[in-house]
Parts: sequence; C-alpha cells; structure tokens
Amino acid sequence: MGDLDRKVAVVTGGSSGIGKATAILMAEEGAKVVVAARREKEGTETVSIISDAGGTAIFVKADVSVEADIKRVMDTAVETYGSIDCAFNNAGRTEGSPLPWDERDVELWDAVDGVNLRGYWLCMKYELAQMMKNGGGVIVNNSSIAGLTGFPGEIYTATKHGVIGMSKTAAVNYGNRGIRVNVVCPGIIETPIISGASDDSRDFFTKKIPLGRFGTDTEIAEPVVWLCSDKASYVTGTVLTVDGGIMEGMTNGVRPR
Ligand code: NAP
Repeated sequence: MGDLDRKVAVVTGGSSGIGKATAILMAEEGAKVVVAARREKEGTETVSIISDAGGTAIFVKADVSVEADIKRVMDTAVETYGSIDCAFNNAGRTEGSPLPWDERDVELWDAVDGVNLRGYWLCMKYELAQMMKNGGGVIVNNSSIAGLTGFPGEIYTATKHGVIGMSKTAAVNYGNRGIRVNVVCPGIIETPIISGASDDSRDFFTKKIPLGRFGTDTEIAEPVVWLCSDKASYVTGTVLTVDGGIMEGMTNGVRPR
C-alpha cells in the first residue's frame, strides 16, 4: 500500500527539478499523476520514468500563466482519472534578470507574477472547484524561504510571500469542505532554477546553512507527499520550511561547534 493509493494528483512544473521529483514520488506512492508544464520533451520524460517503474501518469502541455491552459489541465485530470484529490502547485520562475529594481520594466513584474502568484491563484480556482465536487482534497503550494524574509529578487520575493497569504486564506475558507491547504518553503535546492548562481553566492549561502549543503529535489518531494497523504489529515494552513536550517543560520549568531 502506498500513501497516495487511489488518489489523483496534479503537479505543475513537473518537467524539472522539485516538480519532477514530486510527480515521481507521488506515483511511487500509488497516485495517478497529471504532469503539467510547457516543455513537452521534458514533461514526457517524467511520465516515461513513472510508466517504466509501473506507475500511472500523463503529460499535459500547459503554461500556468494562461487560464485556458490551466482549465485544460484540470479538465484532463477529471476526464482521464475521474477527480483531483491532490495538487502540488509548483511551477515557478525567477526574474532571470540581473538589473536592479529601479531599472526593471513592469512587463517583468507581470511575467513573474503571472506564473508565481496569478498562476497559483488560477490553479487553485479550478482545483478548489473540483475538490468541492469530490467532497475534499489537498493542495500544497510551493513558496520559498523567499516567502518568509527579504531575499535577492524583489518580484520573486513578493510573489512567494503572496503564495503564503493566499494559501492561509484558502485553508480558512475551505476547511469546512474537507479541503486542506498547506505551503512548503524550500531553502536552496539543487535544481536548474539556481544553475545561474555564481560560486561566490553559492559559497555565501552554504556558509549560512547549518546542515552545510544545498538540498535535493527529493528532500522537498518527501514532505509534499506527506502533506498530501492522509497521514497529515489534521494539518492545514501550515507553512512548512524545508531548508537545512538556513532561516536560522541567516538570522541568528549561533555558530557551529
Ligand atoms: P526548475 O527545475 O527550474 O523547475 C521549474 C518548473 O516550473 C519547470 O518544470 C518549468 O517547466 C515550470 N514552469 C516555469 N514556468 C512555467 C509556466 N509558465 N507554465 C508552466 N510551467 C512552468 O526549478 P525548481 O527549483 O524545481 O522550482 C520549482 C519551484 O520551487 C518554483 O516555484 C521555485 O520558485 C520553488 N523553489 C525552488 C527553490 C530552489 O532553490 N530550487 C527554492 C525555493 C523554492 P517548463 O519550463 O517545462 O514549463
């Protein structure tokens, strides 16, 4: 028996990094998984890894900044597997621009917000509607330690703070419908999103992590699967930091012994 047996799970950003690892782990735990992302080759590869291991998954090509794409993901999940029991809203991007705040264009705000905050809001709109029809469900939203404190990249940081506020509100609004909503805040995780980080910044952050290293995608997938499972049946409105201790390392003066 797996922890997600008979559940249908949607994972946005399942073509890479944390989303890919989570889709694979969800399938290992028995879920039928709908993998959504823009890149077809990479998304299909996630599905192949799941199928080759005996699991069940499909890929839906989708841009989470486009409402019609999100609706198609959710409709496909219901048409193919009958429901949506768990959703991991995870697709995300950074500014990807080294320009300082006062030199940025408003189009960059719209693009980052469109994926990281508006995109999550739209996903939740359709997920909540389906979960109310089901009589319950679980949503896990991927924020960041940048959702908890000031961090490089003001637009990214604003959207990740917003994800937490939105999730807490949903937990309050929909708990009485049997829907749990929680947030994970990863620290610094070895995925393509941080591949552009300089050696200096990697060194700067590593020194602040009590566990002395960046995390792995599977180290985020594990708590996400737990939050989605019935083992977390009394957990809602929670913000789970999974960061190797960096939030403590950045804010207090305790030194390793
Ligand atoms: P990643 O490997 O670059 O994954 C990002 C995923 O988001 C990809 O699958 C990408 O798929 C998808 N995506 C981006 N824009 C999209 C769009 N418009 N529509 C649909 N999918 C889109 O990086 P990651 O680290 O796993 O990031 C996953 C999440 O974790 C993000 O929300 C990120 O903010 C969060 N996070 C990461 C870290 C870290 O240190 N790695 C720390 C805290 C939080 P396509 O390109 O195929 O569309």
